[in-house]
Amino acid sequence: MQVPSHVEYERATSVEHALTLLGRPDHRVLAGGHSLIPMMKLRLAQPGVLVDINGLAELAYITLDGAAGRGGQLRIGALARHADLLDSETAGRHFPIFHDAERVVADPIVRLWGTIGGSLCQADPSEDLSAVFAAVRATAVIRGQDGDREVPVREFHRGPYETVIGPGELLAEIRVPVTTGTGSAYEKVARRVGDWSVAAAAAVLQLDHGTVKQAGIGLTAVGAEHFVAAEAEDFLRDRPATEENFAQAATIAAEHCHPVADQRGPEDYKRHLVAELTTRALRRAAGRASQAAGKTA
Ligand SMILES: Cc1cc2nc3c(=O)[nH]c(=O)nc-3n(C[C@H](O)[C@H](O)[C@H](O)COP(=O)(O)OP(=O)(O)OC[C@H]3O[C@@H](n4cnc5c(N)ncnc54)[C@H](O)[C@@H]3O)c2cc1C
Repeated sequence: MQVPSHVEYERATSVEHALTLLGRPDHRVLAGGHSLIPMMKLRLAQPGVLVDINGLAELAYITLDGAAGRGGQLRIGALARHADLLDSETAGRHFPIFHDAERVVADPIVRLWGTIGGSLCQADPSEDLSAVFAAVRATAVIRGQDGDREVPVREFHRGPYETVIGPGELLAEIRVPVTTGTGSAYEKVARRVGDWSVAAAAAVLQLDHGTVKQAGIGLTAVGAEHFVAAEAEDFLRDRPATEENFAQAATIAAEHCHPVADQRGPEDYKRHLVAELTTRALRRAAGRASQAAGKTA
């Protein structure tokens, strides 16, 4: 039996209370606990005090502020659960990629309790939402006792299991700019239903009369820096949204990532998956962008 080492427990009664507790040495946020508790059982994490934020309803929301293309943004509280994102009609309408991804994150039990904030803060290289939020160019709102600071999700992860969140801070919200003419999609291969990715690709395309105005490409579990295929994004910008260009961008993405061989497969297989999944995600994102443009025309 795996048993965590001794740990104290505090239940935060407000965000301010949580921040005060987190300012003390060796205190750590407990959200859904689906990553932290297993790590504690394996003694890979040994916090002195768990600060339970599950009572903080003010961090559990998904709302749309403003209008698409006019500074509008989707705001997701850090304590929103995977299941909330999957159920959110607003999130799915503007970003079908969230529903694509949430359908393949773990299983319904994990999704009911695991949080969006916990997913990002865990900084697991195989976490699906890290690539998704990188692709949609989200911003993380980090709250401390002196107020909020905003960090692009593309700069949020320092490396595996490490983020820019400091002592006395917590992730409060994730903001996603809502643009017009945009489509998005997520494609994942796992060994079985509910499993972590062998590899996965997130694509967001903003099109203008068939030309790519902006591309976002995220990669999961294949060692892409900050979960992003930046060279492939650069290649696509201002090019026609064609099958040939998608295939070329996918080849570039596969060349520039750094998968490692493990029980999920050898390196060349993972590169092959990156190329295939990136092509599929770009194709579906482009189709959805065209559909979205048709609806607003
Ligand atoms: C069986 C199983 C299968 C899974 N499969 C997948 C999968 O296929 N794809 C996938 O992406 N994920 C998968 N997961 C991971 C799951 O999505 C994450 O564990 C979960 O969402 C993390 O959120 P949590 O709320 O449980 O975080 P916790 O475990 O509570 O916390 C994780 C880390 O983040 C920190 N933290 C949490 N919230 C905050 C905050 N607001 N501010 C600062 N720090 C914070 C904690 O201190 C801790 O270090 C799986 C998990 C399990 C148990």
